[in-house]
This record gives sequence, structure tokens and C-alpha cells, in this order.
Amino acid sequence: MMLGFLLARAGVEVVVLEKHADFLRDFRGDTVHPSTLEVMHELGLLEEFLKLPHQEVRRLGGQIGEDFLQLADFSHLPTVCKFIALVPQWDFLDFLADKARRYPTFNLIMQAEVVDVIDDGGRIIGVAAKTPDGDLEVHADLTIGADGRGSIVRDRAGLEAQNFGAPMDVMWFRLSRKASDGEQTLGRICAGKMMVMLNRGDYWQCGYLIRKGEFENIKARGLEQFHRDVVSVAPFLKDRTNELADWEPIKLLTVRIDRLRNWYRPGLLCIGDAAHAMSPIGGVGINLAIQDAVATANILAERLYRNTASLADLEHVQLRRDFPTRMTQALQVFLQNNVISRVLDNPEFRLPWPMKLFNRWPFLRRIPARLVGVGFRAEHVRTANMLERKRARPPDKVYFSDVVIDILFLFFR
Ligand SMILES: Cc1cc2nc3c(=O)[nH]c(=O)nc-3n(C[C@H](O)[C@H](O)[C@H](O)COP(=O)(O)OP(=O)(O)OC[C@H]3O[C@@H](n4cnc5c(N)ncnc54)[C@H](O)[C@@H]3O)c2cc1C
Repeated sequence: MMLGFLLARAGVEVVVLEKHADFLRDFRGDTVHPSTLEVMHELGLLEEFLKLPHQEVRRLGGQIGEDFLQLADFSHLPTVCKFIALVPQWDFLDFLADKARRYPTFNLIMQAEVVDVIDDGGRIIGVAAKTPDGDLEVHADLTIGADGRGSIVRDRAGLEAQNFGAPMDVMWFRLSRKASDGEQTLGRICAGKMMVMLNRGDYWQCGYLIRKGEFENIKARGLEQFHRDVVSVAPFLKDRTNELADWEPIKLLTVRIDRLRNWYRPGLLCIGDAAHAMSPIGGVGINLAIQDAVATANILAERLYRNTASLADLEHVQLRRDFPTRMTQALQVFLQNNVISRVLDNPEFRLPWPMKLFNRWPFLRRIPARLVGVGFRAEHVRTANMLERKRARPPDKVYFSDVVIDILFLFFR
């Protein structure tokens, strides 16, 4: 949606196909990070965006057994917003779609499920989709696969992925929130169990981590035992676990981390989870997908407008986004193997002593804040705005960290 918006804003004819009738899915994550808020600011949409109902997370912490860990503090970031905005993703997508509709070259077709790519002698020239009104073919100079971690586009195009595995899945459900619960969005670890709780105003969005493949065993042990498990990790929820009266409101979210070797083929480019499925660790997947969209628009918009985009331009997108993706996934794999697996395997898990330094020295909390809030390479909007007759522009801010990343990239690519 973000790429569709940016391309239409730059005058490129765009068709976005969405398989569902609306964006009202509960399991996409809600974390709009400072880097994405910066993009909204650069687009002149921030003020209006922040009028949507949202919560602002300025610090991240975790309860680990008896210890409380203050892990990240966003207040020092070099961004306009020094917080994560928790906005339901359906609101975010509706907002972007609404803004995109102002541009005459933007088209959004809901309930259009892509079922195949159209291959013309090795070049992808569009997609085939199913709609309630029958089959639809959309032909395009460039097809973008942005259909998430189960991407049919990358599958049908035969793009090969490297799978990094994940030891856990997530049980996703909500429980009501009381004022006395406190506000802080946090992770909780206790007695071999781990749960993340997102403050969504009048309810907690809970993500309860389980070992991969464990869901059926948990169901077999019964709902009452599951209530007890939840209470053991967050005792203050004892008076409301009965809101989960059956398994229906509890969704199993399958976690995976993978990455395409090549994100592109002639006529096709994959971005977001379709190019690199992200784990929920750090809640960075949405923001990485947005950064991909901004970089893609920066590199391709003008060329698509002039019909001069080449395979080398698609390669340029991958080169630009490969490094931040690799680094973020490497961190996620490290954390899932060294923290999450250990927590799930070991009821005696205690806060490792180096982590206690975060409580003692507040400046250390700037490091996770930077990694989570901005990531490894921040993208800035440089595309044209046809409606306001603003031309594409070079970046007006050069961040020191971006220069360092570019230098590292030259060495490690
Ligand atoms: C359990 C879990 C929790 C997570 N929590 C967070 C979080 O809190 N914060 C965060 O930043 N990240 C989170 N992530 C990661 C995040 O969800 C993804 O990285 C992010 O959504 C990727 O965005 P995307 O646009 O590439 O794909 P998606 O958000 O998956 O969007 C793909 C879109 O394509 C549509 N689509 C799919 N197939 C088709 C088709 N065949 N035809 C037409 N349309 C199609 C889908 O309906 C969807 O609208 C979480 C991941 C998991 C597994």
C-alpha cells in the first residue's frame, strides 16, 4: 500500500490488488516505529495520522521472573517522533489507501486474490487474480510481490528462498485492560513461559510464545490449563482469563524467517515479507516493509514514469535493502536461538547479568532503541509529488549512521 501510494503520488499508474474485502485482520502487528513516523512526516501526513486512536510507547521493558528490565528508551532518537505509535494496522492501511485515492493514477481492487503470475518468455508481464466478479488479468510493466510471508507471487515466479527456521509460534488473543494494570507495553518471562502484551487502550493484545508445533498439545491439555499458564506469566490477568471461553478467539500465528536469494526477475520485484519473512521479534517487520517501499519508490518511480526501468534498477533495490534485512534477521535469529529457545526450554531462566547493566546505565537503552526504532538504514522520501508539482529531490539530511552503514555495506556485500 505504501509503495502504491508513493508511486501514484509520483504520477505512475498503479493497481494494488488485495485479496480480502477489508483490512480488518487482527494479526498483522500494530507497531508503527519512529522510522515509519518519519516517513509520514516527510509525506506531510504525520499530524493527521496521529489523530487516529493510538498509544505512544516511549520505553520498552520486560518482566523476567522477579526482575524488571528497562530495555529501550526512544527519547534520544534523531527522529521527529521519539516513540512507537501503536495503531491497528487496518487503520494504518485505510489511512494510506484514503490518501492514495487522491491521486488519479492510484487504483485499489479489493477482493482480488492473485493466483498466478503471467510469464511471457521468461518475463513477468502481470498477474492473474480471482475476484467475486470472475477472473481478472492485470498486465504491468513491473509487478511487485508484496503479498506477505506466504507470498504466492514469489512462489509462482519460482524465486528461491533461504529458510532460517524459527523455534517458536505465537498464540494471539486479547484480554480486557484495566487502568490499574499499568500502561507499559512489555514482554513477560516466567517459569519457562513468555508473553508479549501490547497496550491497545481498553484491551491487551497478547502474544503467548510456544515451541513450534506445540499448539495441538496445548489444546489437548485443555483451556483451563492454558488459563493457568497465562496467569503464571501475568498474575494480574487472573480475573479475566475466562474471557477466553473457547479456543476460537485464540489464533495460532506461524513464525518464520526466510529471505529470497534474488528479490527480482525480469518484470518482477518482491519486497517486504514476500522478499524476507520477518519474525515478530522487535516488532520490526512492518517498518522494514515500509522502508523497502520507500527505497523502491526512490529508485524506480522516475524510471517507471518514463518507462525506462531496467533489470539493473531492480537489482539496485535489492542491493540497497539487502544489508539492513540481513542485519535485522541476523539479530532476530540470534535472539530466538539464545533467548527465546532458552526461555522455553528452561523454567529456571534468569536475567543474564550483562542485561542488568541496562537498568544501571540508562544510556545503554539507546542502542536497542536505535535498532528497533530506526533500524540499520533509514530511508527518506525523495519521490516527486505530482499533485503539488514537487519534483523528486536528493536527500536533504545525511545521517552519520547511514554513511557508516554504506561504508560497511561496501565491505560486506
Ligand atoms: C506473530 C507475528 C507477530 C508480528 N507482530 C509484528 C509487530 O507487532 N510489528 C511489526 O512491525 N511486525 C510484526 N510482525 C511481522 C509483520 O507482520 C510483517 O513483517 C509485515 O506485516 C510485513 O508486511 P508486508 O506488507 O510485507 O506483508 P503483510 O503485512 O503480510 O501484507 C500482505 C498483504 O497482501 C495480501 N495478500 C496476501 N496474499 C495475497 C494474494 N494472493 N492476492 C492479493 N493479496 C494478497 C494480504 O491480505 C495482506 O494485506 C509479526 C509477525 C508475526 C508472525
